[in-house]
Amino acid sequence: MNTFAPLAAARPSSVFVPAFDAEAARRDFPILATPVIHGRAFLDSAASAQKPMQVIDAVRRCYEAEYANIHRGVYELSALATKNFEVARDKVRTFLNARESSEIIFVRGGTEGVNLVAYAYGDKFIGEGDEIILTYLEHHSNIVPWQLLAERVGAKIRPVPIDDAGELIMEEYERLLGPRTKLVAVTHASNALGTLPPVKQMIEMAHAQGAVVLIDGAQGAPHLKVDVQDLDCDFYVFSGHKVYGPSGIGVLYGKKAHLLAMPPWQGGGDMIETVSFEKTTFAPPPNKFEAGTPHISGATGLAAAIDYVTGLGLENIAAHEHSLLEEATARMRQIPGVRIYGEAKNKAAILSFMIDGAHPHDVGTIFDHHGVAVRAGHHCAQPVMERYGIPGTVRASFALYNTRHDVNLLIEAVDKVKEIFK
Ligand code: PLP
Repeated sequence: MNTFAPLAAARPSSVFVPAFDAEAARRDFPILATPVIHGRAFLDSAASAQKPMQVIDAVRRCYEAEYANIHRGVYELSALATKNFEVARDKVRTFLNARESSEIIFVRGGTEGVNLVAYAYGDKFIGEGDEIILTYLEHHSNIVPWQLLAERVGAKIRPVPIDDAGELIMEEYERLLGPRTKLVAVTHASNALGTLPPVKQMIEMAHAQGAVVLIDGAQGAPHLKVDVQDLDCDFYVFSGHKVYGPSGIGVLYGKKAHLLAMPPWQGGGDMIETVSFEKTTFAPPPNKFEAGTPHISGATGLAAAIDYVTGLGLENIAAHEHSLLEEATARMRQIPGVRIYGEAKNKAAILSFMIDGAHPHDVGTIFDHHGVAVRAGHHCAQPVMERYGIPGTVRASFALYNTRHDVNLLIEAVDKVKEIFK
């Protein structure tokens, strides 16, 4: 029996103009109505965001009606799948305001994007005695690939320190930049503290020294309007699963001149022009960097996620998240024994804190018993923790579907911990 039933047309995003309506947005996320999270506060979207029906529908439609391997097929279904994949690429181009869709490379996620640049760009253009500037705010995925590169080629890592508020010390950045600096890799938003470094200024300063800049947008793309041309960054990476899209798909943006100059980093099908045992020639970017069958449904899902967030308006989402951050921060500040980490002037909607006498892991577990899902630990950003001399923090991160009710639950959960540890 043919069980195939065509899906209804893609669901339009709810309309939120003029004020952002988080309650309406919540209805787009079926998981928020399931028993495991209903009535509870999901405050861990910085780790991975939940998926709206629009994304789930798009992935389902891909497998139900539009799936075949891409680029290779001569039949209609493959042509349709290829078209969808390339439409998704162009959607990402618009999302980042890149000049050309050939500057958009699909990868598994932000981590893979950084590794790609470290191998393909780093091994060719960075050598013995050269310097790579990172910051104390970086996630391990924007540290370790550079350390591995430094070991391979004999380069040095120079980290920019932060002050007590979690701001980069720009005088130190200026001091570290020099003729030996070949690359600067900095986060668009810190996942541990929320700090938004002045990336545009940092890019300008690096370019003045002839260095290229990679921006880790894993926490930037979900919350900030990204314009890679305005930033003038050389590379930008982000992960689909943090912008309400599927996991296993992410993006590396690279300026065309760099992508043309870089060798491939993985070999296989789809990245070649011709192959013979004597000589293989490579396809132009982006295919040169996309060996093998890609995450076809992931690209479709990511395109739907981009439609979803741009439909709501990234500025509206950011303003909503910010108002929750401000309220939660103000209320936390009034609770004796709570210490907030990360008080930068410009912040993404991330609230990191400790409660006197309680280990972050215990706090996370007690919070869970009181209906609040947060992350506890070092958040894959151990240099930040080392800077403050702490094992980790409790991190509440806000997304478009969070509400004041979630803030209330968070504050109540802090009170419970304080009762237990008093
Ligand atoms: N960079 C930052 C700032 C992050 O927060 C994360 C994930 O938490 C990553 C990079 C790595 O992202 P992924 O695990 O999706 O590759």
